[in-house]
Formats: sequence, structure tokens, C-alpha cells
Amino acid sequence: MDLWYTEKQTPDHGITSKITRTLHHEQTDFQSLDIIETKQFGNMMVLDGMVMTTDQDEFVYHEMLTHVAMNTHPNPKHVLVIGGGDGGVIREVVKYEQVETATLVEIDGQVIEAAKTYFPQIASGLADPRVTVKVEDGIKFIAEHPNQFDVILVDSTEPVGPAVGLFQKPFYEGIHEALKEDGIMVAQTESPWFNRDLIRRVYQDISTLFQYTQLYTASIPTYPSGLWSFTMGSKKYDPLHLHEQENLLDTKYYSRELHRSLYQLPNFVKELTK
Ligand code: SAM
Repeated sequence: MDLWYTEKQTPDHGITSKITRTLHHEQTDFQSLDIIETKQFGNMMVLDGMVMTTDQDEFVYHEMLTHVAMNTHPNPKHVLVIGGGDGGVIREVVKYEQVETATLVEIDGQVIEAAKTYFPQIASGLADPRVTVKVEDGIKFIAEHPNQFDVILVDSTEPVGPAVGLFQKPFYEGIHEALKEDGIMVAQTESPWFNRDLIRRVYQDISTLFQYTQLYTASIPTYPSGLWSFTMGSKKYDPLHLHEQENLLDTKYYSRELHRSLYQLPNFVKELTK
């Protein structure tokens, strides 16, 4: 008999993936944490029943959350990642030689430990000497570190549990304060198919705080609807003007050609920015 894992992405729609093994289960202080081995996507991390990352498609999200900001800022040296306990965004950040500090603020230390065990290729960047890992609430951390970062990347779970506050305007105000005068933020902002009101509201919140705001998408097969969004706020640098960093990037999804076309959005997505 085949065993399948199904994520209900809305009350009326979901995805299902054939399981070969259940590798890990625990109830942390914040969420249920499951690691399952799937036929199609390899190892899959699931938090509170929601797919977070998989061996096969993780590169899309981690590259697209990281490299758009890192190639819009001319010289990002101090980078902060909120959430991101699997380490994938940090792995992409430390690809830049000019980065001097990369700080990860993840509320649930168990996620980090599970990533190191079951996703070593995703968590590999955590061992970089420039990386500092803080196991605490990103909302609290932001408030205590004004004017410190060139780039802040919000790699949160869905707006549930401890992540609810990461989608609220006060948090974006805190990010604005934690960024230097020319800083850039990017947040993962859910699915343009299933989370339209959220994307519209977050875009409006960020656009009231930042000189420039841009919405962009990427194709992520294991995320709800398969189309995912990211919202950028930039204090000074125009997102339409790339600052191509020297080092050629080792990426499987992001490219500078893709970056240049990124803000040409389908009409049903573009209308979320109106
Ligand atoms: N790529 C995934 C996605 O888009 O759904 C997210 C990856 S990562 C596993 C999300 C992380 O955000 C989780 O490990 C969760 O513990 C963390 N998180 C949620 N709320 C947080 C908060 N307030 N401060 C810091 N980390 C938080």
C-alpha cells in the first residue's frame, strides 16, 4: 500500500506527495516539526503541517529571497535573516565575498538542528565563520538593533503562530529602523493565488515606509499554488537598477537576465500592487 502526505493549502485544495519514509517527528516549543522522505522531492521539512523546504526545489526560494536584494544593493556587508532556520538563505548570503556578517535570528532552535541532520546541503552555510545564529524572536531582535544592516531578509513561516507579527506593519517599521539609511528588505509574502489580500496589504504597508517597493514571484512546486511572491522595500536604491556583484554566482534559478525581467508581472499579480 502506498503512503501519501497531503498538505491542505486552503480548506478546499491541497497537494499530496508519496512518502517512502518518516525520518523525524517532534513537538517543539513552537510547532510540530516533521521530516519525511518523499519519492518526488526527496527529504521534506513540514512545520505545523505546512511544507517548508525540500531537497529538490529548495534552491528556487532560497536564491530568489536572497539574490534580488544582494544585487540591488551596491555593497551589502551586513545581512540579517529572520526565520530561515533551515539555513538555505544564509547559504546563499555567504556566497558573496564582500559580506562581513550574516546574522540568522530563528525562534526555534530545533528547526536548525533538524536541518543540520536531514538537510546538510541546505544548512551548510551555517558553518561559515561570518555567520552568527541567534535563537530568539525576530520581532524582539529587530527592535534591539537599530541602523545596523544593509540587507534584511524575512524567511518566515506562514502568518500563523510566532510568525503572525512578521506580517504586520509594526514589524516592517522595525525593519526600516534596523536597516541603514540605504538598506533593503525582502520578505516572503505567500501565494498570489491564495493570499491576495495579505499581499495587497503588505505591499501597501511597505510602500508607506520605503522609497521603492517591488513585488516579484518565483515558481516553487511544493508551495501553495506553486507560485510564490516576495516583496522588496528599498530605502535608497532603485530596484530597477541592478548592481551586479563581481563574483559570478553559483545559482540554479536566479540569473541577472531573470532579475531584469522580474518586475514584469502578470496582470492578476500586478493588480495586487495598485
Ligand atoms: N521557506 C519557508 C517558507 O517560505 O514557508 C520558511 C522556512 S523557515 C523553516 C521559517 C522559519 O521561521 C521557521 O523555522 C520558524 O520557526 C521561523 N519563525 C517563525 N516566527 C518567527 C519569529 N517571530 N522570529 C524568528 N523566527 C520565526
